[in-house]
Amino acid sequence: MNCTPLAALVSVMLLTACSPQGAGHGDAPAPAATQMKAQFDAPATPVTGQLGLDGRTLDETDPWYQQGQDKVAQLQALTPITERARNVVLFVGDGMSVTTITAARILAGQLQGENGEGHMLSFDEFPYTAMVKTYNTDAQVPDSAGTMSAIVTGVKTRAGVLSVSEQVARRDCASFGEHRLMTNMMMAAQAGMATGVVTNTRITHATPAATYAWSPDRNYESDGDITNWGKQVGCVDIATQLVEFDYGRGLDVAFGGGRQQFLPKEQADPIYPGVTGKRKDGRDLTQVWQQRHADSIYVDSLLAMEALPADGKTQALGLFAPSHNAYRVDRLASESERSIQPSLEAMTSKALELLQARDAQDGQGFMLVVESGRIDHGHHAGNAHRALHEVIELDEAVAAVMAAVGEDTLVLVTADHSHTLSMAGYSAIGNPILGLAGRPTEDGGHEPMLDGEQQPFTTLAYANGPGANYPTASLTQESVMAPDYRQRAVTPMDSETHAGEDVILHAVGPGAQLARGTLEQNVIFHIIDQALGLSERVAAMP
Ligand SMILES: [Zn+2]
Repeated sequence: MNCTPLAALVSVMLLTACSPQGAGHGDAPAPAATQMKAQFDAPATPVTGQLGLDGRTLDETDPWYQQGQDKVAQLQALTPITERARNVVLFVGDGMSVTTITAARILAGQLQGENGEGHMLSFDEFPYTAMVKTYNTDAQVPDSAGTMSAIVTGVKTRAGVLSVSEQVARRDCASFGEHRLMTNMMMAAQAGMATGVVTNTRITHATPAATYAWSPDRNYESDGDITNWGKQVGCVDIATQLVEFDYGRGLDVAFGGGRQQFLPKEQADPIYPGVTGKRKDGRDLTQVWQQRHADSIYVDSLLAMEALPADGKTQALGLFAPSHNAYRVDRLASESERSIQPSLEAMTSKALELLQARDAQDGQGFMLVVESGRIDHGHHAGNAHRALHEVIELDEAVAAVMAAVGEDTLVLVTADHSHTLSMAGYSAIGNPILGLAGRPTEDGGHEPMLDGEQQPFTTLAYANGPGANYPTASLTQESVMAPDYRQRAVTPMDSETHAGEDVILHAVGPGAQLARGTLEQNVIFHIIDQALGLSERVAAMP
């Protein structure tokens, strides 16, 4: 049969085969189903009814059937929480495409000794989801600055700018001021909520920066990045804007990397003396932070962070690396990094502790934004191994929050944009997700699927990126499973690019039911605003 899309549809209807040539995927047994059967106790009296039409049976004893029935019952019983949310936690997996989630979910399950395909990440369990359209107003395939600006201001804008409207011209320091937009972090702080930003990139990087700063260019992270003209006509670097954030009492918690943006260029980094600060104005912004309030504390290590008092007063700036924090796999592989740099989960849990203590005292709730920012970096490097482990880093942080907040907290997990990762071939269930496409053999070996040139290939690949320049002949399971392996890419590029398809918004808690259908990305701001009643609260302030 000719497999045009229509033919494929018809073949499904007629229950005839329409397999891609040579795929042979239809005749394999279903190990997952077999394994699932083993996990369930068969009912004492199996109920098997005849459907009649063509003699096929409805097998109500099949665990998949039962699982489907249970899920529908669960969905029917689901009632939205329509009260106002007291708190909101927004997680952003930078570059966390749908394929990235699927592959990371399988990896997480496989690392726990399961097949992986049936595994659920913490946010896979959230009851509400929506598809999110990510384009910027001037870019079909967006960047993090424009997308995060949409999420936190409620207005789509251009690529490369932070929380200013699309009327702004990139790098136009003279006119950006009139296009500045209130972010929900600014509104939350003004409304007296406790506020926090956590990331494992530089805290001045685009995604976290969009929450607290305005800039006609995402790259103005320290004053050394702005021209003299730019400074004269009004541009202020992002690090300065963080420590001088003057809504409410300022940010209560800011944890991430990026010490260089806060230290003078003459000053060596206190932990990595080989690198120096980047500021040209001679200011040590970590000192500026500590001088702002009696209870402002600056920390630069895991131990110091853990020791921060959750007294309802402390305002904490934590900078744990000169630039980005280490990738999860590199942190876990290095005892010294592990002793200095907190995981995303550790930073998130500590931030939550401080914000909850502040809320217990002030009673105004809290807003926390957490970015797992290095998913994006792993992908840009064409290195799925690191990218997927960064999703696990996010998963653990989400799980920690879910264990620590109550039903009064709206928790959202989304991505700013996609990446070009694809997951393909006809691998068997349980095939290592980072490995060669194919199937594990009985003797513990592996039988790879072969491409048109009789060569093995990996399940994961990129549409573009540095992997295109890698030698592709004689791939072995060992070579492709190595942490530094760069997956093959079709189009050679030094840095793999973002991709333009929709991403997912996962939601749980009060207002989560608003996450449904296909949404423009700026709608996320309005979901948060509606859940917290934020603009009403700000408008009602004296
Ligand atoms: Zn990126």
